[in-house]
Amino acid sequence: MGQSNYDLMILGAGMTGASLVHLLHRAREQGMRIALLERQSLNWEADAIERPPSFDGRATALSWGTRLLLEQMNCWQHISDRACAIEHIQVSDHGRFGQTHLHASEQDTEALGYIVENAVLGYGLLKDLESTGVTLMPNTQVDAVQMTADGASLTLSDGDVLSTRLLVMADGARSGLAAKLGINHQRQSYGTSAIVTQVKTDQPHQHWAYERFSDAGPIAFLPLHQRQFAVVWTLPEETVDDVMALSDEDFLHQLQQQIGHRLGNLMQVGERATYPLALVRSDEQVRRSLVLLGNAAHSLHPVAGQGFNLALRDTAVLSEHLTRAWQAGQSPGDLSVLQAYAEQQQRDQSNTIIASDLLPKIFSHPGKLTAIVRDAGLMGLAAVPVARRLLALHAMGLGQKAARPGGLS
Ligand SMILES: Cc1cc2nc3c(=O)[nH]c(=O)nc-3n(C[C@H](O)[C@H](O)[C@H](O)COP(=O)(O)OP(=O)(O)OC[C@H]3O[C@@H](n4cnc5c(N)ncnc54)[C@H](O)[C@@H]3O)c2cc1C
Repeated sequence: MGQSNYDLMILGAGMTGASLVHLLHRAREQGMRIALLERQSLNWEADAIERPPSFDGRATALSWGTRLLLEQMNCWQHISDRACAIEHIQVSDHGRFGQTHLHASEQDTEALGYIVENAVLGYGLLKDLESTGVTLMPNTQVDAVQMTADGASLTLSDGDVLSTRLLVMADGARSGLAAKLGINHQRQSYGTSAIVTQVKTDQPHQHWAYERFSDAGPIAFLPLHQRQFAVVWTLPEETVDDVMALSDEDFLHQLQQQIGHRLGNLMQVGERATYPLALVRSDEQVRRSLVLLGNAAHSLHPVAGQGFNLALRDTAVLSEHLTRAWQAGQSPGDLSVLQAYAEQQQRDQSNTIIASDLLPKIFSHPGKLTAIVRDAGLMGLAAVPVARRLLALHAMGLGQKAARPGGLS
């Protein structure tokens, strides 16, 4: 070996790629040569217009388990002041009786999770990257990837070619580079889009989050600032354009009808953006010298707020395997190392994907039987503390080993 420019190249500095740099701190300190390539700038301010896609105007629900990992990464300190704790969650069904509440106090924890604006998350993840010793290559577009006998080579848009012993593709769900290596993605559209925005209310949120299901799709109101919620409103694709075209006043009126007055009166709405929703999974996640990570491997329905939370657990487990291999003198691209990672995360991935996939389907099917089952489900949950605890553990991302403190060692 010794010919490669790097031991590890990470393609994409979104939430996933940036997290991997932090989680590999021990391997970095022990000489692993790492480069991070991103086609956009890494020096943006929180209010900049051009940002990597991970860090757009959305807000992200972070599980308690994710908070613990961000602490280990020394990133939580840059985020915590602007993260809003979720202390209570109300899950309800529009026009039906069933309703359940989850409380942090029942779980012996200070929060069920946190809501953070993506711009703040980006600030926390990118802020200290320069001091990590990793080679940062912003404004660098990768045009082609080729697998070689020793690893992988990357062709940049300026014609330069770089080589690495391991390539981690954290380049999102739409990059198309994996397809050029013969790795296909299965795309299952939900026929829905999410309208994402923020609203102001006339009452403080008191750290309540609201998840409301209706025949048209789920809506989440997530507490952000004192009288402000991040909103993710899922609608059938054919109605989204009409709702987007509404005046602010009409939009707020329709939203209020959906959520009712449990969180007060909706007073003001921010910019709206839409995201078509699909479950996208790659056919393969590891090959010799290659890993697909984050949205590049799986992109989920946002209703359960698990996409990044799962990606971070994957990233934490991958970094443990890579660090152990590095300390044992193994190549980071060794297939057995990468397969061990994939096998360890397989169960967590399939459980999370199934839950994120089933939830919107059960709660948006207009059939009467489904309605009865979901009513019974919500009322049952309200009555049974153990079931509530399990749901809360899932929401907090604590059902999985990697999310628990020390769970990786
Ligand atoms: C509406 C919505 C709400 C969501 N809410 C939540 C939530 O509440 N909780 C949660 O956990 N998750 C949530 N998610 C999911 C979360 O946003 C994703 O899991 C996360 O953004 C994935 O990040 P990533 O880094 O894997 O991919 P991306 O964000 O797509 O980043 C990929 C990066 O690679 C770069 N790149 C791509 N191709 C190239 C190339 N050829 N050369 C150089 N650079 C390249 C891109 O510029 C980009 O910066 C939500 C998603 C949506 C759509």
